[in-house]
Amino acid sequence: MAVYLDNAATTKPFPEVVDAVVKSMTHTYANPSSLHRAGLDAQLVMDEARKTIADALGCEPGCILFTSGATESSNLALRGAAAAYGKRRPHIVTSAVEHASVRSTVDALESQGFRVTRIRPNENGEFDAADFIDAVGEDTCLISMMMAENETGRILPVQKVFRIIKKRFPEVITHCDAVQAFMKLPVRVNDLHADLISISAHKIHGPKGVGALYVRRGVRLIPLVTGGKQEKSIRPGTEALPLIAGFGAAVKCMQPTIAQRYEKAEALKHFLLDRLHEIKDIHINSSEQGSSYIVNFSVKGIRSEIMLHFLESKGIYVSSGSACSKGAKSGVLAAYGVSDDHADSALRISFSCETTEEDLIALTDAVAQGQAQLIHK
Ligand code: PLP
Repeated sequence: MAVYLDNAATTKPFPEVVDAVVKSMTHTYANPSSLHRAGLDAQLVMDEARKTIADALGCEPGCILFTSGATESSNLALRGAAAAYGKRRPHIVTSAVEHASVRSTVDALESQGFRVTRIRPNENGEFDAADFIDAVGEDTCLISMMMAENETGRILPVQKVFRIIKKRFPEVITHCDAVQAFMKLPVRVNDLHADLISISAHKIHGPKGVGALYVRRGVRLIPLVTGGKQEKSIRPGTEALPLIAGFGAAVKCMQPTIAQRYEKAEALKHFLLDRLHEIKDIHINSSEQGSSYIVNFSVKGIRSEIMLHFLESKGIYVSSGSACSKGAKSGVLAAYGVSDDHADSALRISFSCETTEEDLIALTDAVAQGQAQLIHK
């Protein structure tokens, strides 16, 4: 049996999710926009999923727009808000550790003339809320901060920053990439003081290719594509109903047990850290206070891919840094002050609710074995 420890990259769909997808494809396959009875049935499936996700975020269903995933959600949020509000206020604030879906989008806006301030962590590898707050000014249209960072699991002080910014500069649009936090930590729109929130189904045991953007009532976004009236014409195109149904099913499964699962993940994280501390020449790149679901560490002298493939040969699947970067060097680790040597040998372990202590024993035994075998190669 494979030991799958790459859940920050993607998760295995729950059986309930697969059932919901299949049921939608075999029964409610009509176009939700069609006026006949079959279209209405499809619309009802979509309404239910939208309501489930809205309830989980603490908002009205009308504030949820379905997209093809968080990459699209964040593109729509950032490009759409920049186009709507950025003419007179061409300044954007973000963190230096955002996922590529935000980072590259902000880079693109910068090349179009926006001024961008990227906040870096302090010397302890943590973010100071004051650095974000002080960076925002009269000419800022947008701030984008992720909640749980996907490579080391650090938690950014989004709630505090957005609360203070909304008090001082209510017109600044606040966007949060909550992909690695949704269904793991509390993500509620009002507590977060967010105008826009990106989430993705495949990180929470839902299907790939579907996500959502929460858009606070009254916030204007210029659409990225034009077409029909679906998703309030902000994201037109026939909705991916089977995937949306699967997304709703995933949230329904996870929502009632967020706190218990977090506690279990916290115990697993400590179990793993204790075992890693017993192995020599291991450097932990994660923070104690970070997400319970992600542990990033380096095995001195062994490049990430070498150890990754050794672990793979034992049936253990992990990631080297961010899966989206396809093995490319991580700028995120550098931002935390992780040395090049440690960054070159970084591995990311990420848990799901199905991860067990036995999985972590298999992992740490294999890391120690790999270290003994590979160090002289
Ligand atoms: N944001 C974060 C923090 C992520 O970890 C990911 C996926 O790796 C994404 C955004 C992109 O999500 P999607 O695959 O749904 O486009």
